[in-house]
Amino acid sequence: MSTSPRTPQSPRFSRIPVAVLGATGMVGQRFIELLQDHPWFELAALGASDSREGRPYAEVAKWRLSGSSMPPAVAAMPVSSCKPGALPQDVRIVFSALPAEVAGEIEADFARAGKAVFSNAKNYRMEPDVPLLIPEVNADHAQAIREQRRRRSWSGSIVTNANCSATPLVMALKPLQAAFGVRKVLVTTLQAISGAGYPGLPSYDILDNAIPFIGGEEEKMETETRKMLGTWVEGAGFTDAPLAVSAHCNRVATREGHLERASVELERDATLREIIAAWENYESPSQQLELPSAPARALIYRPENDRPQTLLDRDAGHGMSVTLGRLQPCPILGYKFALLGHNTIRGAAGGSILNAELCVKLGLIA
Ligand code: NAP
Repeated sequence: MSTSPRTPQSPRFSRIPVAVLGATGMVGQRFIELLQDHPWFELAALGASDSREGRPYAEVAKWRLSGSSMPPAVAAMPVSSCKPGALPQDVRIVFSALPAEVAGEIEADFARAGKAVFSNAKNYRMEPDVPLLIPEVNADHAQAIREQRRRRSWSGSIVTNANCSATPLVMALKPLQAAFGVRKVLVTTLQAISGAGYPGLPSYDILDNAIPFIGGEEEKMETETRKMLGTWVEGAGFTDAPLAVSAHCNRVATREGHLERASVELERDATLREIIAAWENYESPSQQLELPSAPARALIYRPENDRPQTLLDRDAGHGMSVTLGRLQPCPILGYKFALLGHNTIRGAAGGSILNAELCVKLGLIA
């Protein structure tokens, strides 16, 4: 039997059966929406808590996404428990939208059972053999999967998404790092309530309010940014990028989309025009590889002085583009700007699907 990977270029390629764990939650629903009519992946199973087992999805999940409705085929699908034996055997890719409290053990069980797990939880992000992946930023880190399989004796694997605020920040920083070098980053976020899952914060706590604390978020932005902008070398592992990051994270009363204001110190001086050109001309592997979920433009610079705005720009590139704007001199660090990313699409489900597409394209999924 041939052991060569079945990639979309192979003549005998057929859509890969995939499962979504945590399918009833905010991110799980995004996965379901984005996997409808996916050219490479076919939604074959849905997982949630044990108490949901065997019940039709429509009975246990209330659709919460504006702009779409529960796909009829999904409404009738029975929900499984999150155990490898509960899913159809031919499922090869498992998208996990599980909370961190349970993701660690469940995701490892699936990787051990030979599944390629794409996780949104924080548990494995900083592990020394787990890619924290954004195809536009560090596609080469995906190769760490081979080391992971060797070290852990897993036939499957775990690849993680970054924190939903770190993702657009890192996408904005990557072209600056490549063109000018980045020494310091100071970032302040205005994060939407959907970032806290459903039901998230009580309405009485967040309406008419902004809260300067999101547990663990600032630490995640600071550590994950350095890992993603760092290097992966076979045999030597990951090395963090040598930059200082300080994050201030705030929850605000928007539904979706994380707006951020950043100041950066570069290693070499650049004009504002050069910085905008670095963003606009950035060629990333996911665009070159023609991955189905890659937006035509990963980064969009808006010249208007009041953009990006959460409401107006979060859906750019079907929620997969990061919108930038307001680039100005910063008297302290040199340059400052605004950026915006869709937290449940680019920062979660869409990002995971793009990661899976990259791994399939690279032949990393058996
Ligand atoms: P959520 O709305 O609270 O959904 C959690 C999901 O996990 C539900 O489907 C729930 O199913 C399931 N679940 C809970 N306990 C379980 C258990 N013991 N066994 C099996 N399934 C269980 O959370 P979310 O916002 O979608 O976030 C999911 C993950 O993505 C988290 O790790 C989060 O940190 C991460 N993330 C979220 C965002 C975002 O913007 N929301 C962005 C990036 C990353 P039941 O309905 O059966 O309880």
